Amino acid sequence: MTGPFQPPPGMAPRSVLVRNCTACGACCAAPDIAALGKPLGVPCVHLGAGCLCVIYDARPAVCRNYAPDWVCGEVAPLPTLDARVRRFLEIYGLQDELTE
Ligand code: SF4
Ligand code: SF4
Repeated sequence: MTGPFQPPPGMAPRSVLVRNCTACGACCAAPDIAALGKPLGVPCVHLGAGCLCVIYDARPAVCRNYAPDWVCGEVAPLPTLDARVRRFLEIYGLQDELTE
């Protein structure tokens, strides 16, 4: 298997194959998003109930261009948004940048 769902070597030993976005909210909460003035680890102000985007039709290009990849399999099955954010940042080596 190759492509965006292939984890890097040595990564994601407990990854579940997730090919479609399950609206887990991790990518709307974990990374910093300059276009939205969103800091790392803080849910986007447009992230609504059920981890759905409340400005979906007007979301910026950075969000439109984001596509599911192997990281979704690592984060989406986790039970809380906080856990998903922490795992997302851990994958990218950014867990120490969380302020709380
Ligand atoms: S991390 Fe993946 S599954 Fe979760 S909301 Fe983002 S694209 Fe969807
Ligand atoms: S604008 Fe919508 S899609 Fe983009 S990060 Fe915020 S909630 Fe997610």
